[in-house]
Amino acid sequence: MIKIRNYINGKLCEPMSGQYLDNYDPAQGVVYSLIPDSDERDVAAATLAAKNAFHDWSHMKHADRSKILIRISEIIEERLEELAMAESIDNGKPLWLAKSVDIPRARDNFYFFATAAMHFASESHATADNTINYTLRTPIGVAGCISPWNLPLYLFTWKIAPALAAGNCVVAKPSEITPMTAFLLSEICMEAGLPPGVMNIVHGLGPKVGQAISEHPDIPMISFTGGTKTGAQIAATAAPMFKKMSLELGGKNPNIIFADCDFEKMIKTTLNSSFSNQGQICLCGSRIFVERSLYEKFKTRFVSEVQKMKVGDPMNDDSRLGAVVSKPHMEKVLSYIDLAKEEGGTVLTGGHAVNPGGRCESGWFIAPTIIEGLPYKCRTNMEEIFGPVVTIMPFDTEEEVLQYANATEYGLAATLWTENLNRAHRMAAQIKSGIIWINFWLHRDLRTPFGGMKNSGVGREGGWESFRFFTEAKNVCIKY
Ligand code: NDP
Repeated sequence: MIKIRNYINGKLCEPMSGQYLDNYDPAQGVVYSLIPDSDERDVAAATLAAKNAFHDWSHMKHADRSKILIRISEIIEERLEELAMAESIDNGKPLWLAKSVDIPRARDNFYFFATAAMHFASESHATADNTINYTLRTPIGVAGCISPWNLPLYLFTWKIAPALAAGNCVVAKPSEITPMTAFLLSEICMEAGLPPGVMNIVHGLGPKVGQAISEHPDIPMISFTGGTKTGAQIAATAAPMFKKMSLELGGKNPNIIFADCDFEKMIKTTLNSSFSNQGQICLCGSRIFVERSLYEKFKTRFVSEVQKMKVGDPMNDDSRLGAVVSKPHMEKVLSYIDLAKEEGGTVLTGGHAVNPGGRCESGWFIAPTIIEGLPYKCRTNMEEIFGPVVTIMPFDTEEEVLQYANATEYGLAATLWTENLNRAHRMAAQIKSGIIWINFWLHRDLRTPFGGMKNSGVGREGGWESFRFFTEAKNVCIKY
């Protein structure tokens, strides 16, 4: 059985407790590897290593730092098949998805931020009375990076790459539910020649390892992606210590469909925006609002297309959906389907666990589920389910659907389908979410600001926003 180890000060090491946790393959429902049950002592060792490495790393020439990070990106590319297989086994997602999305994106994250570091410039402000202000943006020190299980290496590297590129050292914690590709990344960092201590990965439980990172006085900034409740817990710990925080949290995203949309394009994309990665993407559109004149046509076609989506072994190319990430998560998603029925919803398709048989007969699979007939303000439509479950409902006017769309405590992403340009701009300006896709979904240009409003987060990452987060701005004013 594979024994995952921490990566501290350039070496793979056992947790100080000597204890390990079980790691499951969700498609088979079996333990297949062991994860270090680390604690605050491992975090302290990792933080010390990062602090000691900071001077040299932050003073290294941009081009040299870039070269090492580009080498990491290249090795990810060289090991793409192996990493994709590891991600699929660990998370339950289809192998084709890990190969085409997760791992290429992890590769691109390193490449993008490594090259961006060579172009990052700061501002200067000159005035007529012979003064000039310039802004120094310097790396801060040790960055704490905590990431979730749904897009494990993709989101892990989305934080780590800019933190390192900006000249910081890192103490990172992947989700304890999906630690495998972070472990493989440790090997890749060593192979790429990343100096010891620059990057440290501590595996283990959120309340132990994540909490220790949030609390550590020598970690002045936290970049976190995960659930809103956990984000609140981290903020409660870190805010009184005046740490810099970037919190990318949950979502309950609206998908708004007007009758004048390009129907075929919308149907194809809506299947993805509803059920990609088993609906376990913070950007999935889980509340689908359809203009009444199109509602019946949409419903008939959407249900029939969803019924064709195959749920099965993540290793098979024809599986559209794989396993959900864990047994507790499967139970949570199924309990929300029960809640939807109690709230008066009708399940149009799905609504149950699936047994694909064969080697996956003990795995955790759920049929893609469509529910209709619910009020927009019920719990099913307000709370994040984070699984292959969507609700559909009709609307009559722009004002009405805006009210529906903005009704939740979340504000991460929204999708809008219309061929009416004026309406598209009008709606985009009024929907309260950090990202709006018009006639598309999940196009990610890494230069754009990424993040949510309301309970979906604080701060923005992506492009220069990431560099600004991972540096401290200092104004220098000269009179000459
Ligand atoms: P969690 O909030 O449960 O966990 C996220 C990370 O935080 C994990 O590494 C977890 O460790 C850790 N953690 C748990 N408790 C603490 C704590 N007290 N202090 C510090 N760290 C802690 O989220 P999930 O992993 O369940 O991920 C799903 C959530 O992530 C959804 O809400 C989803 O919307 C959100 N998400 C948001 C995105 C965005 O960009 N806005 C993108 C992707 C997901 P452990 O795994 O050991 O519990």
